[in-house]
Amino acid sequence: MKKRILAYGRLNDDQLAQLGHDFEVLNFPGLASADDPAFRSALPDAHGLIGASLAITPQLLDEAPHLEAIATISVGYDNYPVDALTRRGILLCNTPDVLTETTADTGFLLIMAAARRAVELAEWVKRGDWQAGIGPERFGSDVHGKTLGMIGFGRIGAAVARRGALGFGMRVLYSNASPKPELEAELGAEHHEMDALLSESDFICVTVPLNADTEHLIGEREFALMKPSAIFVNISRGKVVNEAALIEALEMGRIRAAGLDVFEQEPLSPESPLPHMTNVVALPHIGSATHETRTAMAQRAVDNLILALRGERPISLVNDAAWRSV
Ligand code: NAP
Repeated sequence: MKKRILAYGRLNDDQLAQLGHDFEVLNFPGLASADDPAFRSALPDAHGLIGASLAITPQLLDEAPHLEAIATISVGYDNYPVDALTRRGILLCNTPDVLTETTADTGFLLIMAAARRAVELAEWVKRGDWQAGIGPERFGSDVHGKTLGMIGFGRIGAAVARRGALGFGMRVLYSNASPKPELEAELGAEHHEMDALLSESDFICVTVPLNADTEHLIGEREFALMKPSAIFVNISRGKVVNEAALIEALEMGRIRAAGLDVFEQEPLSPESPLPHMTNVVALPHIGSATHETRTAMAQRAVDNLILALRGERPISLVNDAAWRSV
């Protein structure tokens, strides 16, 4: 009997056919919740899951005793109980690298848009308010030559910094779990303790993963350390930032502006003041959302899952310990 895959991400016909060659595929396109009865009733016979944005809980795993592998169509894996998966010997595969440059582009888009007030001024033009040349009250801030502080200096953090250092002549500071001497040599980046980075940077860009150590890493105390002219950008996960503290810092003018791709609650609550603030550029979690990159991510997830269910090592494996126990 063929192993069964439950697919709940956006896979194209070729990718579904590739999975279907060796496996039985039950497709749940656009599945929004694991409570979906059809998905739930298929879980007990599932060997593989492939998708994104669905929180997988240990309780769900209890309902899937045959599960061997999960391929998430994302690099972040904060939606998965990694320890519980590893204990059960279930492989968790993700999609690093293929989305790095696109997500870094989104980071730089937010840096530029917030600094030059692009959304606010485009709205102003759209309203027909452009009646005369603009004055200093609508000027923005330079990006080139400024200091860029990276919180998290992994794949995406380095790619944002590369744009800043090589394209915009920026000085790069970074705070990261481990030092990165090779990036210091390549980009002239300087390792700083986080407090020093926060107080010295003109732009602060967050690219750490969400985990127990990074939840609310940036809060009231951290915003208070930033310059009043600082521009804050988050392209990692919303919960890395205490959003109430961010809103207060923006409202009180403790920082100048923010560019945000991610939020504590997604989709953003209609009650949130953030999209209505003129000094905020808010995007709907589009870090990797280009045709090319989303196709490449889905393909990486398909390749990972096929390898895992064949008993071969997937290309990108989060929980190496589960592989060793297979
Ligand atoms: P990565 O290469 O693993 O980089 C993460 C970096 O954060 C690593 O350098 C790591 O340090 C550092 N780090 C981890 N915990 C830390 C802590 N407590 N304090 C300081 N630094 C810490 O991952 P990536 O590919 O760059 O992706 C980063 C994150 O971006 C993902 O986890 C995901 O949440 C987010 N993301 C968002 C979007 C979007 O659509 N907005 C798209 C893609 C990814 P070490 O180098 O020492 O391990």
